[in-house]
Amino acid sequence: MPVYRDDVVVLRTQKLGEADRIVTMLTRQHGKVRAVAKGVRRTASKFGARLEPFMVADVQLWEGRSLDVITQAESIASYGALITADYPSYTVASAMVETADKLTEAEGSLQQYLLLVGALRSLSRREHGAGLTLDSYLLRALSMAGWAPSFQDCARCGARGAHSAMVVQAGGIVCDDCAAPGSPRLDPATITLLGSLLTGDWEHTKSTPPQTRAQATGVVAAYTQWHLGRGLRSLEHVSR
Ligand SMILES: [Zn+2]
Repeated sequence: MPVYRDDVVVLRTQKLGEADRIVTMLTRQHGKVRAVAKGVRRTASKFGARLEPFMVADVQLWEGRSLDVITQAESIASYGALITADYPSYTVASAMVETADKLTEAEGSLQQYLLLVGALRSLSRREHGAGLTLDSYLLRALSMAGWAPSFQDCARCGARGAHSAMVVQAGGIVCDDCAAPGSPRLDPATITLLGSLLTGDWEHTKSTPPQTRAQATGVVAAYTQWHLGRGLRSLEHVSR
């Protein structure tokens, strides 16, 4: 089938020649797609600003030999403009799309698409604060990729929690028998917050004090970097 249509969220773009761009998109049904948007860098481009990062669009593509070509793009949601106008939201959204890009290297999935679009929508509406939205997104995206952390029972031997030692390499909280000497210990409130962020239990996140959030953010950042490597550049720009 030479022409197909799909809903997409734009992850990133790169220049191609004088006026074109290669657009990397996570799609609802076709996984991750890299496609050419012709003439998109001209001021009179028919695509306007619809193919910028964080934009959600209904796109028509023509199957090319190496790269597909975008022939139409209609905006579905205006999250992108709202996010780009607010610097903290922009840095958080950048970390989200970079994470999505890395997690879908082999193949994209409908779940990853829906999670990312939902997180961008929530971010643009300022529903939960940018930092909490990012931490929740990271935990859930990594879980979908097969790296679900444990914040209750021991991640190594399965012993019933509650425990307090955090071992990122083991996949979460571990019991005292499994913890190496010197393993960092988390406050019970931090472990509760991490569990709430993982399940999307936003009610419980609201009244958490700054130091609890900061400790949780440190755990999420370490956990993310353990699985994705140090290459996640945009996470370093997020002010915490
Ligand atoms: Zn154990």
